Formats: sequence, structure tokens, C-alpha cells
Amino acid sequence: MALLVQKYGGTSVADPDRIRNVARLVKRAVDAGHQVAVVVSAMAGTTNQLVKWVDELDDGHFDPAEYDTVVAAGEQITSGLVAIALNKLGVPARSFQGWQIPLVTEGGHGKARIGEIPADSLKRTLQLGHVAVVSGFQGVSPEGRIATLGRGGSDTSAVAIAAAIGAERCDIYTDVDGVYTTDPRISDKARKIDRITYEEMLELASLGAKVLQTRSVALAMQYQVRVQVLSSFEDKPGTLVAGEDEIMESNIVTGIAHSKDEAKITLAGVKDQPGVAAAIFGPLSEANINVDMIVQSVSSDGATTSMTFTVGKTDLVRAKSVLDGLKSTVGIERVDADGNVVKISVVGVGMRSHAGVAHTMFQTLAARGINIQAISTSEIKVSVLIAADYMELAIRSLHSAYGLDAT
Ligand code: ASP
Ligand code: MG
Repeated sequence: MALLVQKYGGTSVADPDRIRNVARLVKRAVDAGHQVAVVVSAMAGTTNQLVKWVDELDDGHFDPAEYDTVVAAGEQITSGLVAIALNKLGVPARSFQGWQIPLVTEGGHGKARIGEIPADSLKRTLQLGHVAVVSGFQGVSPEGRIATLGRGGSDTSAVAIAAAIGAERCDIYTDVDGVYTTDPRISDKARKIDRITYEEMLELASLGAKVLQTRSVALAMQYQVRVQVLSSFEDKPGTLVAGEDEIMESNIVTGIAHSKDEAKITLAGVKDQPGVAAAIFGPLSEANINVDMIVQSVSSDGATTSMTFTVGKTDLVRAKSVLDGLKSTVGIERVDADGNVVKISVVGVGMRSHAGVAHTMFQTLAARGINIQAISTSEIKVSVLIAADYMELAIRSLHSAYGLDAT
């Protein structure tokens, strides 16, 4: 007998039939003798509709606490419906809203963090052999107001609940059957990964593999919650996200991710003297613009240099105008913006102990005539920025080069 958390995403609870299917999956675990806490998302499309209604009434100036009151409603509906479907199958179940647990939040509204979760009432329910059906995405602020955790936040709710009750595993049921070595829509040779470490999943999630909310992975790593990503539509094991001690496979590269969310800025004729980088990146950070990859070349004439870096695509216009404003004071000749780029990253904990991963990447891209515009690395990741047109070619070639292709 184990204590399990099962989380069902929006597509898995999209209509009454699918909710019945969810109830059957939960019943199967209960019949096998497990204690189950279920965490649910809003039915597919519901949260978008709720956000739209808010925007229609007041685009941007509304009280964030009232925004949360509205958008948290989707999960309340699903938790009640799932409890009803379970009861109908003879499985005793009750719903819990964030304030009823309580899942206490911190840090305001719209994108609150999770604070404390006293798990007593959940545990009492589970010990009675009843299923607790928890509304994901929502909690209660210290002021007693409904607060939400940011879009996609029910993954994070599920992991937090699993940590709070000490669950054996947190199963995230979704519409894909696991985490893949790369986006299967780009490469038909993508393979499902059986096991992946928290660190790798964190990199892949934040690099645009949109299976799990990044925060949920960070939380799982922090509390060592084992997470399984699997499909609610197919009956087969998914991908286990766990600590390195549980991962037997030894691929050097585990996955290849891409992000179309970044844009490139090149500064030419930048004065080469102390304090210039600070004078450039200071105003960007004050404008709340995140900078990712940074390349500065050595000055050839001793007087000026050039600098390339990336910012979020949605920040590109703002970044350009901030930088244009610095031209004369800081000493920058030209500011060029290019939104037509993509970041490709190879990720794997095996890189820590194997040399040559970056070399293979550069060589593979060179053989295809793909120019690298910027490079960044971390302990378990190498990223390159290339022209967007080459995205698919680059991903497929790298996927083969690292021996990831399905046979
Ligand atoms: N319903 C929320 C959203 O659509 C939370 C979630 O599904 O994870 O963002
Ligand atoms: Mg989701």
C-alpha cells in the first residue's frame, strides 16, 4: 500500500466522459490498496475563458486578488465533478479547495508562491480510505484571499501536496505519454525517456519542453518528490523524474530542447573600457528585461568592441529602445535587433564526466553549414543560438549525432 498523488491536467478532465475515465483510473489505484490524493486542473480552455472575461472588463488595471478569485474558479468545478464521479463509482471522495486544506501562499497574487501546507485534514481524509480531490493552481493568502500560482500552476500544487503528505510518488497525468528526447513533432525519431534526473528535467522544462511547469520540477528536486509523467489516455508507464541515484541509464546527452522565445541583440562599436557592461545591463535589468546568452568579443583596435546577447522575444522592442537611449551616454555605435533566431540546447548529467559534448555539437552543426551566433554552457547543458530557419535540421542532426534516434 502506498500514498500517491495523481494530478490530472486540463485535457484529461475536458468533459464528463473524460472525468469518468479519470475516476476509473483513481478507482484502480484505490482498489489496489493505495491512499490517493487527486489534484486537478480546470477543464481544458476554462482558465483561458476566465482570463478573457477579466480582460474584457478591465484590461490590466484590475485588483489582482479579484483576478485570482475569477481564474481559480475552473479548478473548483473540476474538483467537485471528479468527487461526484468517484462517489458514483462507489469510491468515497471529497473535494478540497485551496483555502480548505489550507494551502497557504506567499508573495501576493497572480503568481503566488507556496508557503505552508498543514496536511492534517488531507491526511485524516486519506486515512479514512477516502480520496481527497484537491483543486490545483489555488491557495489562500495570509490575508485570507484566494490566490493562484501562475499559469500551469497545478503541476506545482500537485508536487507541493505530495511533499506535504509524504507521498511515495506524484503521477502527473497529461495528454502525452512522457518526456521525449526531443519534440516528437520535429523529429519522428524522438524517443520516450524512461528515467530522467531532476536537474535534466529542470533544464528541459525551462528550455521549452512544455510538459511540466518549471517551478514544479524545482520543487520536486528540493523536496525529493519522485514525479512520473504519463498519459491518462493510454495505459503504459511514463517518464520517471527522480534523483540521480535512481537513474541507471548512462546516455551522455539525455535530451535536446529548443526555445523560440529568445531574440538577439548586437551592439557594435561599444567603447572598450571598465564599467561599460554594467552601464548596459544595469538599465536593462531596471526595465525588468532578462538577459540570457552574452558574448563579448575582444577588441581588435583597443578602442571598441562588440557585444551580442539574447533577451526574451516579448522584450525585444523595449530592450532596443532602452539601448538606443544609451548610445551617446555609454558609447555604442549601433544597436541591431534580430528576432529570427532559435536557441538549441543539449542536456545531460553525463556531461559532467565526459569531454567532447560541445565539440560534437559544433562539428555536427558545421557539417550542415549552420552558423553559431552565440554559445552558453552550464554544467549539464550546452546551448547555441542559430538562425530560426535551421531549427529542424539542427535538432534532427544533433539527435542522431548523440545516438538518441529511435531504432
Ligand atoms: N488551470 C490553470 C491554467 O490553465 C492551471 C493549470 O492548469 O495548471 O493555467
Ligand atoms: Mg499543465
